[in-house]
Amino acid sequence: MATKTAAPTLRDRLRAQLADLKMPGALEALDDILAALDGGKLQAPAAVEALLGAQIALRNNRRLQAAMRSSRLPAVKTLADFDFSFQPSIKREQLESLHTLGFVERRENVILLGPPGVGKTHLAISLAVAAAESGRRVYYGTLGDLIASLEEAQQAGRLAQRLKTLVFPALLVVDEIGYLPVSRTGAMLFFQLMARRYEHASTVLTSNKSFSEWGEVFGDEVMAAALVDRLVHHCHIVNIRGNSYRMRNHAELHRDLRSAFTPQAGDDESTIRRRNGRREVTAR
Ligand code: ADP
Ligand code: MG
Repeated sequence: MATKTAAPTLRDRLRAQLADLKMPGALEALDDILAALDGGKLQAPAAVEALLGAQIALRNNRRLQAAMRSSRLPAVKTLADFDFSFQPSIKREQLESLHTLGFVERRENVILLGPPGVGKTHLAISLAVAAAESGRRVYYGTLGDLIASLEEAQQAGRLAQRLKTLVFPALLVVDEIGYLPVSRTGAMLFFQLMARRYEHASTVLTSNKSFSEWGEVFGDEVMAAALVDRLVHHCHIVNIRGNSYRMRNHAELHRDLRSAFTPQAGDDESTIRRRNGRREVTAR
């Protein structure tokens, strides 16, 4: 190889330096980067960027692996995997800007609202992944999970400890507000948690219910109003109006399902039965 004969000692010194600095990502990328430099495919500044970038990518990946073990994130989702063309009600710039994590720095909240399947959990996780990669502590739970863990801790006389654990992360995801009803004690415990996190650390929340329906979700209008008041004080609201991504390939099935269950003018029993039969075949 050209570099080896031209400057073998320099390459060896670089290797030793990267090893000494404990930069295995950069060390592994070194040969390819030097070859690209030699081949004129890279300029020096770009080569430096590529070398540091390789190390940063490795470090971020390690941080994410560690976070996946402790944060209870159910999957890895990223903004790069998100198809904005499918969800035109979402402003790409707003989401890109949120992923630079200024809101975490400023201890602000993010609330993702919208019907099922529109990407609320995806985006909440991708924010948590970005925060984990940046070295921040993150934690994920559905509202149901978080409340169950608080109730359990309370019964075991360890509520203070549990609250402390959930107040600590720089970013907490509270997913699925509104799918399941919340008990009165559960609502009060969750309120305590949010009151403690208020202006202390960021929370990303998702809900299929509008704020006006949160009173019903939490079984207490006054408490829900106080909760929403704190949450939206320093808050970015992402309102998603669109179709379910889960159902994107099933437009036809949807139509069939709808017509199967909705008898149309002029239908007799055998037409409906035939249509239902077709539905079963299609659905399978
Ligand atoms: P919600 O939480 O709003 O019910 P999810 O975030 O769980 O919806 O999305 C359902 C599935 O579809 C997930 O696997 C998610 O990754 C995927 N998804 C949703 N919206 C998009 C999108 N715009 N681009 C790519 N994948 C998407
Ligand atoms: Mg969801």
